[in-house]
Amino acid sequence: MYEDNWKKLLSQSCTTVSELSEYITLNREEQEWFDTVETGLSLLVNPYFAELAGTSEAIRRQCVPRAAELLRTEVESDDPLAEDANSPLPRMVHRYKNRVAVLVTDHCAMHCRHCFRRSFTGQGRKPLSRQERDEICFYLKEHTEVKEVLLTGGDLLTLSDGPLLELLKAFRDVREDLLLRLATRIPSSLPQRITPYLVQELGKLGPVWVITQFNHPHELTRESRGALNLLRKGGLPVMNQTVLLKGINDREDVLAELFQSLLVQGVKPYYLFQGDLAAGTSHFRTNLERGWEIMKNLRREISGLAMPVYAVDLPGGGGKIPLSESYLVEKKEAGFCFQNPEGHSFIYPDE
Ligand code: SF4
Repeated sequence: MYEDNWKKLLSQSCTTVSELSEYITLNREEQEWFDTVETGLSLLVNPYFAELAGTSEAIRRQCVPRAAELLRTEVESDDPLAEDANSPLPRMVHRYKNRVAVLVTDHCAMHCRHCFRRSFTGQGRKPLSRQERDEICFYLKEHTEVKEVLLTGGDLLTLSDGPLLELLKAFRDVREDLLLRLATRIPSSLPQRITPYLVQELGKLGPVWVITQFNHPHELTRESRGALNLLRKGGLPVMNQTVLLKGINDREDVLAELFQSLLVQGVKPYYLFQGDLAAGTSHFRTNLERGWEIMKNLRREISGLAMPVYAVDLPGGGGKIPLSESYLVEKKEAGFCFQNPEGHSFIYPDE
């Protein structure tokens, strides 16, 4: 019954304006995107999230495209983290010495309008093939410096239990010491997918950590709390990454409520991400000074346990750094100049 429920929801996803109109009456700016767009990240919203979008502006902005997405600024890119240059295999990114990211599928339960991997997501690619998987397994056998595999995409939990568990088992079989990190938006975007059977099977493959993405307290519904509860009871550690999104969650009271509520659900707020420079996402980015101010104010409001690390993935493949001021070298005309842990300098623009 559980299995059928999430698959049915996924198969009923809205991909056209008329399907979306059953849940939302589009405003002018949203309609303009549909009238103009030819390429880019398509519309995809499953009925669960579409219903939520009908009740919350913060949810709606995350899943309904607007004309602002048509703007591509000079500093934006289709590959803002330079993942292509750091991919020794077609579906594997090896940017950091001790971990790799595997792009399992380009399919998601919804298309987040702020997605930084939007040139990969929803492009109709096939899931990781057996041959691609075997090549990655071979790489992991050779590269024992790799200690963690981040399984991402897209969202790997859109795969059915059979192929999903087969894939995870292959990684587990190749190295018992590997930490498997599942990066998934499913607990917030389609919580019905988190079934007792899935949790039970994931628990057998440990160590498996689940990294979720909740961006607003309105995503913490009865269903998503139920999913988080299942994961916690199944013994799977869960951490959350939030993207700082202008007009959605760039307020101290909203973030304080989100982080505190996640903690109560047994989920550790892990990162608060500054927006990446993905093409068509400038309307979502809050400037760094406002981000620092929010963090400073939050620290006064919530406990250290509820505080995530404010971080940015430096443009051009500089990697992730915590946005503490000790990494800031100077402010130049082109933007903020940072030095990453390897001593290289990167500019994050002051928009
Ligand atoms: S679920 Fe993740 S990969 Fe998919 S659209 Fe959202 S942010 Fe992008």
